[in-house]
Amino acid sequence: MTAAEYSCKVISSRMLTPTVFELAFETERPLALQAGQFLSVVIPGAGPKGRDLRRAYSIASPPEARPIELCVKLVEEGPGTNYLRERRPGETFRGFAPYGDFVYDSEPHRKVAFIATGTGIAPFRAMVLSHAYQAAPPASHLCILGVRTEDELLYDETFSRQPRIRWVPAISQPRGEWEGFRGRVTDYLRSHAAEIDWGGTDFYLCGNGQMITEVKALLLEKGVAKEAIRQEKYY
Ligand SMILES: Cc1cc2nc3c(=O)[nH]c(=O)nc-3n(C[C@H](O)[C@H](O)[C@H](O)COP(=O)(O)OP(=O)(O)OC[C@H]3O[C@@H](n4cnc5c(N)ncnc54)[C@H](O)[C@@H]3O)c2cc1C
Repeated sequence: MTAAEYSCKVISSRMLTPTVFELAFETERPLALQAGQFLSVVIPGAGPKGRDLRRAYSIASPPEARPIELCVKLVEEGPGTNYLRERRPGETFRGFAPYGDFVYDSEPHRKVAFIATGTGIAPFRAMVLSHAYQAAPPASHLCILGVRTEDELLYDETFSRQPRIRWVPAISQPRGEWEGFRGRVTDYLRSHAAEIDWGGTDFYLCGNGQMITEVKALLLEKGVAKEAIRQEKYY
């Protein structure tokens, strides 16, 4: 489906962690989405010479659910994130959608691994809660989210409740007595290499570019075929 412009009316905005907020909105007419796709938000007048800017945000809610939810990391002095954070319930903003081909398309016999950093977990939340995934989940599913500290963990409730998903929050610099995995997502993959079916798994990577580069290099080193790797790079 080709992208079109939508007027998006804010329903609610709330902090999920000290630096990430969830923005829920409705569109003025139906918007058909596939889990994993994103919205391109117009930031009015924030560009050079007062031109509009555009910023991409993955849809964090499943395609069937309304309102639609975004999960946005506040970036200091970032025009896109601050514009969205300032939008109050009842206000509208403009966005173009649907965009993106980072969608769940694994064959049922394949194992699946989702690997995210920070708000890169957003499209994976949409995927696992989608009707399509729930109707035909993979035989085995690993999901790793890398964040720096415990309070940056996102959607722990959603993922820890999924009966078929091995949910691994990987905390690189825990502040307290963290009993889960300590380290980055690459540390987890290396230290659990013997448990991973490298050839039988489809890998979906989403988040910062450095993580994607490092994980991809590791996957290729382990003999994973390029076709078994899908990625969405945020920055
Ligand atoms: C396909 C796609 C989907 C995206 N989906 C999301 C999403 O669901 N949630 C989200 O928060 N961001 C997402 N992003 C990033 C988003 O588009 C913006 O780049 C980000 O919000 C910063 O915009 P800004 O105008 O506030 O700051 P800018 O001034 O444009 O960015 C400043 C710097 O912030 C850093 N940065 C950008 N994004 C992040 C982030 N998510 N976490 C930590 N640091 C960051 C980068 O170093 C960047 O150079 C996505 C990007 C792409 C390409």
